[in-house]
Amino acid sequence: MLKIFKDSDKVLRVKATPVAIPLSIEDETLALAMFQHIKESQDPELSKKYGLRAGVGLAAPQVGVSKQIIIIHIPQGDKTNYTYVLANPVITSSSVRRTYLRGGEACLSVDENHPGPVYRYHKIKVSAYDILSKSQIEINAFGYEAIVLQHEIDHLNGILFYDRIDPENRRKYPDAIVI
Ligand SMILES: [Zn+2]
Repeated sequence: MLKIFKDSDKVLRVKATPVAIPLSIEDETLALAMFQHIKESQDPELSKKYGLRAGVGLAAPQVGVSKQIIIIHIPQGDKTNYTYVLANPVITSSSVRRTYLRGGEACLSVDENHPGPVYRYHKIKVSAYDILSKSQIEINAFGYEAIVLQHEIDHLNGILFYDRIDPENRRKYPDAIVI
């Protein structure tokens, strides 16, 4: 079980350092522990036992380590989960079209509710080192998966979702897709 740092902690507000490739044992152990934490948070029995909030993603700064490692683990019903364990992710292209979650975003590091649309790119291309396959990959993501990836990559730059809540954006992106 990993300690989750909160938005009052400075580590959530600084730029994270890229990790060396191939990963050191220490970095790989951290990434796999983060993956395990997110999987357990989604298990009803374990999350109750340990008092975990369920999450679909986690970034290393959220566990107190200022390094560029993120985890995405989105259950897809009876299909294979949407899972990525990544180092040094970079958004290499993005759509003009924006999207946002109707109910707003939430974060394991933020206890309060921050309602309001968080505008994200609807489609993105991400280049990253995939820790599970030990190779450099390109990810094409859109919609919810793209939102989660952008939320986690923001953590590597010291940005929290509520920094992006701006009622004025509604006028800037009138054709944003609501999910
Ligand atoms: Zn978060």
